[in-house]
This record gives sequence, structure tokens and C-alpha cells, in this order.
Amino acid sequence: MADIIQLLPDHVANQIAAGEVVQRPASVVKELLENAIDAQATSITLLIKDAGKTLVQVTDNGIGMSVTDARLSFERHATSKIKAAEDLFNLHTKGFRGEALASIAAIAHVALKTKTEFAEIGTLLTVEGSKVISQDPAVVPKGTTISVKNLFYNIPARRNFLKSNPVETRHIIDEFHRVALAHPSVTFEMIHNGSDVFKLPASNSRQRIVNIFGSKTNEKLVPVNEETEILKIEGFVLKPEYGKKSRGEQFFFVNDRFIKSPYLHHAVSSAFEGLMKNGVHPGYFLFLEVDTHAIDINIHPTKTEIKFDDEHAIYAMLRATVKHSLGQFNIAPILDFERDKGFDTPYEYSKKAPTTPSIEVDSSFNPFKEKPKQANINFPFKRSSSGVERTTSWESLYVGLKDEPETDFAIGNIEFESEEVTGNLFETTETETAQLTFQLQNKYIVSPLKSGMMIIHQNLAHQRILYEELLKNITVKEAVSQQLLFPLQLHFSKPDVEIIEKIREQLEHTGFIFSQLKEETIEISGIPVLIMESHVVNLLHQLVHDIKEEVPDNGFSQNDMLAKSMAASMAIKTGVSLNKEEREHLINQLFACKEPTVSPTNKPVFTTLEVSELDKKFM
Ligand code: ADP
Ligand code: MG
Repeated sequence: MADIIQLLPDHVANQIAAGEVVQRPASVVKELLENAIDAQATSITLLIKDAGKTLVQVTDNGIGMSVTDARLSFERHATSKIKAAEDLFNLHTKGFRGEALASIAAIAHVALKTKTEFAEIGTLLTVEGSKVISQDPAVVPKGTTISVKNLFYNIPARRNFLKSNPVETRHIIDEFHRVALAHPSVTFEMIHNGSDVFKLPASNSRQRIVNIFGSKTNEKLVPVNEETEILKIEGFVLKPEYGKKSRGEQFFFVNDRFIKSPYLHHAVSSAFEGLMKNGVHPGYFLFLEVDTHAIDINIHPTKTEIKFDDEHAIYAMLRATVKHSLGQFNIAPILDFERDKGFDTPYEYSKKAPTTPSIEVDSSFNPFKEKPKQANINFPFKRSSSGVERTTSWESLYVGLKDEPETDFAIGNIEFESEEVTGNLFETTETETAQLTFQLQNKYIVSPLKSGMMIIHQNLAHQRILYEELLKNITVKEAVSQQLLFPLQLHFSKPDVEIIEKIREQLEHTGFIFSQLKEETIEISGIPVLIMESHVVNLLHQLVHDIKEEVPDNGFSQNDMLAKSMAASMAIKTGVSLNKEEREHLINQLFACKEPTVSPTNKPVFTTLEVSELDKKFM
């Protein structure tokens, strides 16, 4: 057979690579702003037209480029920021992959004007579809202006895929916020279709937040401050009453880089537990500083995901620090700040190798088949006159707490002290768990409360439980597999197998073991303990479907999406009858969750009906 392999021409390779870096005008905004920051600019202007579809232009007063550098900057893997692989773990710049300008130039009309401080004259360079069209000397001030016109002009499919102007503008503003928040000492301006959208003078972090989000924000901010050997945390959380139903102002920066991290989000949310109503998310602006050697940024082309060496410790510190701030500023005067061991843990980490928290999974648990072992979970503690008092289990929410006066019960007032679920979670203790629960329409679990009753949606509750478990497994990478006696052979279309290949690693973290992935066949020799063999096919089909449907870059990472999709497939469905133990087990597990109140898709998991509301019906 004749040889058939060819090297792709550069412009094609660049177009392919561009797909990873540039999804929409906002991606261009991010890359250009970051380049300006890396060039030590103190003043940056972003100008856009038609939501960036016609023009994205960034002007900075940074160090500029020499003639040769200007030309080189559009080459793939051309960067001034790293020289060797070791440098990847000592990064102090936003960029390092040397592919942003090459990618952008492959799919747009680009003009670059630049001059270094001491050069007499600058350079004007134009590039279209990776081809240099012109290069001329030009009289320009120190610094750099890059304009990107007609994005995706040569990839109509991508252009058509862009959303409406308001949506694309929203994305741009999000990126602008992220960079501007991380660099308050830099002056920023944003102009859209000729009018000023933001004018942000150089300032400090608090002023920057207020300048962006409005003067009312100032009084909402609670400062957060902590420094340990491995982590420095600064910034603000919004007081609990300003939490939002939709995901609102939630910003993590690690070494001044905005990152997305459902795992750290979890840490902050859990610090707010008991302070916020159902389905409300906390707002935060948190700036973390860690040793550059302790993180890996090079795990995603857009550099918005980070791998921490010591994720557990960071989680614990973040949670404790936010909790502490809420307490100090009297936001949570009722929280128990007497030092208990759990609270201290973070500070003991400093030089010790972190121990993996033990999460014991009851591998024999199958809600449909057998009697589950009863969980013994420290969930809500009710406030008594003497302070905060923990009760051993959720049952205490229920009827018959003798010495408690008839206080009004609102779910938002419960103190959800979130314990890391460890140790004896699945140990049987024969306490009197004979609580009244019953099932309504094989859909809801109803249970009396001290002040009325609670109605839990069984499917959504189970989704929440599985979602947290899966997300943890994926991020913490410690799932348990059950080996199959006979490997499962499944057939998928070729593109679907490719999709599975892409998420293979994450799936393996949930407990899947793939013995083969090729062409149109998948062979599985192990599956997560949480799932039944007969459900695997459906689950994978659903997953592939969800990934295809996924809007790219919709705020949270792929791990989150994966956990959501799997949880939805695996959860106990409506119509399934549950016996007493199963109902109780589900409730116990639900309230051991970090966010028991909402499903992964943001629906309420349970509701309560107060006696007072009932009374009204009989008037
Ligand atoms: P990276 O930022 O990963 O190095 P880019 O493709 O974004 O890669 O940029 C390539 C190079 O061009 C940078 O390393 C830098 O030397 C130079 N460059 C890009 N933008 C600017 C700018 N605004 N000012 C000065 N130099 C720049
Ligand atoms: Mg860059």
C-alpha cells in the first residue's frame, strides 16, 4: 500500500488548534487582556463592536514588541514566557503556551501595532488566516494594540454557532470582570459600540469590586484573610443574605488567575451551610496564593482549571477560613467556634502529607434489593438555650424534643453543620430510628417534623446524593470499582466512542475500568459500585448525549456535567417503591450532603409544610 500519512499544512493545524483556545469572541478578549497584563501594562482598553463578532481590540501601555518578536508572536508555540518544561511549575504569567495569537490569527483578520519603550519606531503587522499580509514601520506609542476583526470569517460553521449579541456580550463582560478583578492596580476601560461600559481606575481589591458591581456592594462584603505555610487566602464573601438563586458573583483566583473549581466552590458553600435558604448560592471573591510548584495549570487549553497537589488541605482551609470570617463579623454568631478538632485540622497540615479522608462506601448497598445498613450521621444540631447542641441524627428534627419550646421552624434556620462524612457512616447502630416516614405516589417521602412535615422528592434527593459522591470521586480520584466476572462488550458509533475516550479518565475516577476502547466497541471490566450492571448501557448513552448537547464553557467544568448526567441516570426513579429502611437511608444520606436543599440541576429537593399553614386551611 502506498504511504498515506501527510503533515497538515500549518494554517490547517492552526485552525484545528484554534478550536481549543477560541470558542467565541470572549475567548479572544481573555487572551488579549491576559497578554496585556503579562506585558506589565498599567492601563488597558478593551474595545468591541457587535459583541466582538466584528471587532475585539485591546490596547495596552506595556512593554511592546520588537520587530522580530512582533512577527514571531503569531507562530504556534512561540512564547517569551517559558523556556523549558520545568518552567511550567514556576509560572508567574498568564500565558505560557504560545498559542493564543497563532490561534486567533488562524481564524480572523488581525492587525498588530506595537513599539517597545526605547525603539524609535514601531511595527504595524496584518495577518489573515495565518498569512502575514503586510509588515510596515509605524509611528505608534509604547505598548501594543491588537485588533481582531471578523472572527471565524473562514469557518462559517463556528460563526453560525455564536449566540445572540446579548449572550456573547455577557460572556465578554464575564472575562473582562475576571481579569479586572484579579488586577485592581491596573486601569481598565471597556467600550462597546462606541459607548463606555466600564471605566475602572487603578485601586485596591475592594474598590475594584465596588466599581464593577456597584456602590451597594460595599456593605455586602465580609473580608476573608488567612495565611498558612501552604496557602494564603484574601478577599471577600458576600453576606449570606445576599446569596443568589442563580449562580451570581463567584470568583476564585489562584495566583491572580481566575479559575473554575466546583470542588472549591463546595468548600465555600459548605462554610455557609445553615446560613442561607434553600437553593441560594453564596457570592465570593477569593484570591488564593499558593506556591507555583504546588499547582499544575497546564491541564486545559483555556487554563481555567488547575490541579492542586494538596487539594484536600486547600479545601479544608478554605472552608474553615470562610467560616471563621462569617463568625468574626457576627454574620454567624450562632455557629460554634469553640475549637473542635475538625476545625483545627487545616492548620495542622502544613508539612504533613495529607491523609486521604476515609469515605467508606457500602458496596453492598442497593436501594432496591436489600436492607440497607443504617447510616449514623451527625446532621443538624439545633440551637438550645445553652448554645449549640449537636444531635446525633436527623431524627431530632422530628417530633418529641421535650425541652425545646415551640419555636417556629423554618428550614432556612437550621444550622447545617457540615461534617466531612467519614468513619462510621455506614456502621449500623441500632438506635431508635423508628421514625414515621411514608411514601406518596411512589414519588415523595413524607415525614413529620416538629413543626409540620417535610416532603422529599425521592428522585431529586437521590440525584443530589449521587452527584456529590460522584463529583468527589472524580476530583479526589478515589472511587471503588466492582470487577465484572464477564467483561461487558458494548457497541457505540465511532464518534461516540471518541467522546467516551475523551472522558475516559474521569469515568475511571468514578470506578469504571475500560479494558478496550476502539473503533465501535467498548469493553468494560469494572464499574462503579454505585451502579448496577444492567444500567451501564443507558448511562453511557445518556452521558454521550448530554456531552453532545452541552453548551461549551457554560461556567462549570466538564466534571460537574459528568457528575450531573451520571447522577440523573443512576438515581432512584419516580414510581419505585421504597421500604422503611430505604426511605430512612435516603434521608440520612441526603442530609449528609453538602447542599441537601437543591438537586444538581437546581431544583428544590424537599419542601416543608408548617402546621401554621395547615391551620389556615381549616379556618
Ligand atoms: P503566550 O501568552 O502563551 O506566550 P501568545 O500567543 O498569547 O502566547 O503570545 C505570544 C507572545 O507574544 C507572548 O509570549 C509575548 O511575548 C508576545 N505578546 C503577545 N501579546 C503581547 C502584548 N500585548 N505586549 C507585548 N508582548 C505581547
Ligand atoms: Mg497569551
